[in-house]
Amino acid sequence: MNEELYNLIERLANLLRHETRQTGLAMGLQPVQQEALYYLSICNRYSDTLLAVTDYLGLTKGTVSQTLKVLETKGLIEKVKDSEDKRITHLKVTEAGRTFLTQTCPPQQFSEVACKLSAQAQGTLQEALTEMLHQYQQRSGRNGFGVCRQCKYNQSSQGRFVCGLTKESLSVQDTKQICREFTQ
Ligand code: SF4
Repeated sequence: MNEELYNLIERLANLLRHETRQTGLAMGLQPVQQEALYYLSICNRYSDTLLAVTDYLGLTKGTVSQTLKVLETKGLIEKVKDSEDKRITHLKVTEAGRTFLTQTCPPQQFSEVACKLSAQAQGTLQEALTEMLHQYQQRSGRNGFGVCRQCKYNQSSQGRFVCGLTKESLSVQDTKQICREFTQ
């Protein structure tokens, strides 16, 4: 076990969390509200429900309900009924929510530092961290919420994508989002 690696990741995560929280707080959102909003901006249509947000954040349903209510009141998300199954309510990030995220995620100082790395160094780092994340998710039994294009059900042919689980078409944008049904 490389202890220095653990220390580096822990310190980076701490700084990143601190800067994100400070920026979000200055703009009127508590950390948990920011996390829920950010999650809803990167997840796909199978994962934008109250239950999925609860799963992802690992919090109680009551806490997440309150959090989402604040985001809705502030006009950062809106509820949209599923077009085929009216029992399902999707939580969509509004234009105002996207504007908020553009200004806060990733936070400015983190972006400036990351941009100083060469494209090659960024690529190498991304590859190593992706591999580590996959391994960690598998070991911890929390292997949902991966990026769609890396899912075993993601089927592609001639530039078109289909989800092998739901049999529905996926756009290129869908394949870049995270999904609670992700399977390695
Ligand atoms: S291919 Fe996998 S990750 Fe993508 S939508 Fe289907 S189940 Fe989710």
